[in-house]
Amino acid sequence: MHNLEELKGILASPKKIVIIPHQKPDADALGSCLALASYLQKFQHQIQVIAPTDYPKFLWWMHGNEKVLVFEHGKEKIVENLILTADVLFCLDYSDLARIAPLDKWVSASSATKVMIDHHIDRKAFAMYELWKPEAAATAELIYDFICLMGDEKLIDISTAECIYAGIMTDTGSFKFPSTTSKIHRIVANLIDIGVNHSKIHHHVYDTNSESRLRLIGFALKEKLVILREFNTAYFALSSADLKAYQYKTGDTEGLVNYALSLEGICFAAILIEDTDKIKLSFRSIGRFSANDFARNHFSGGGHHNAAGGRVNGNKLEKVIQDFTNLLPLYKDKLLASV
Ligand code: 5GP
Ligand code: MN
Repeated sequence: MHNLEELKGILASPKKIVIIPHQKPDADALGSCLALASYLQKFQHQIQVIAPTDYPKFLWWMHGNEKVLVFEHGKEKIVENLILTADVLFCLDYSDLARIAPLDKWVSASSATKVMIDHHIDRKAFAMYELWKPEAAATAELIYDFICLMGDEKLIDISTAECIYAGIMTDTGSFKFPSTTSKIHRIVANLIDIGVNHSKIHHHVYDTNSESRLRLIGFALKEKLVILREFNTAYFALSSADLKAYQYKTGDTEGLVNYALSLEGICFAAILIEDTDKIKLSFRSIGRFSANDFARNHFSGGGHHNAAGGRVNGNKLEKVIQDFTNLLPLYKDKLLASV
């Protein structure tokens, strides 16, 4: 961040601060927000984290979760007022305001000092202060860096450290993705020295499944996995009736797409999920094939080279499945060259 000293000056006196993760925040987005909140709390700032949507129960253990304001119909005035009267807005784990709809219109209109901290590829500049590193493994890694840049590494306490650890753990696929550098391991070593119990966090995030979630995964694997060997591709498509049958809750399909990607010879995997007003798509790839380009070019989305998402508003699931499979021949050469 080239203008960090200026930002330090702004944060030197107590401010009204709003921190916003992306829609359906994951452990990295929420963990980054709550880590930053617990750090900034030490300076008498007035802080509010606002999530644009709800998020999975397996993240509720994080320190500060009970104070997060989750946007929903009926809270427009409260949220608009908080955003418009904030002195400083932190936007964490996205670099395109479309990812926080419907909060984006208020953030755009707000005259607050805007700070963006993120690691996604396609940046659409909107903030005066940016810590944007697509090569970072997680936004939580950048929150750690940010606190160090502020000269406050010593102020990272157990609450902050746990939230940072959760973001790094999930966004590195438990330290297995190529983004897992020696720097990541050094940061994590420091977090463990601070007192983070990594087994406890792993348990909270990965080992607190409901029975209905496991049954949904079982159903999807048995009935809904489609394998297209000629394109090295596999995908799942789940209708809202499927989700209803298994009492779907936010987060229940998280990670499911990775089963499709784990098939031998498969280098591109997708999951298509029918929501009330849209079809949400998640893409994962191995190697050179760009999930990000695919999501950006065809599904109004983006993300990272090997992990991206997108959406189709209002369409029916069958139509989106057709559109998705019709695109694959266009990418056949790339898909066959990626593994
Ligand atoms: P997931 O498939 O787990 O929802 O997301 C994979 C990656 O793509 C994450 O880094 C996420 O932030 C990003 N992503 C997911 N959905 C969208 C989307 O609709 N637009 C953009 N730009 N990125 C997305
Ligand atoms: Mn992230």
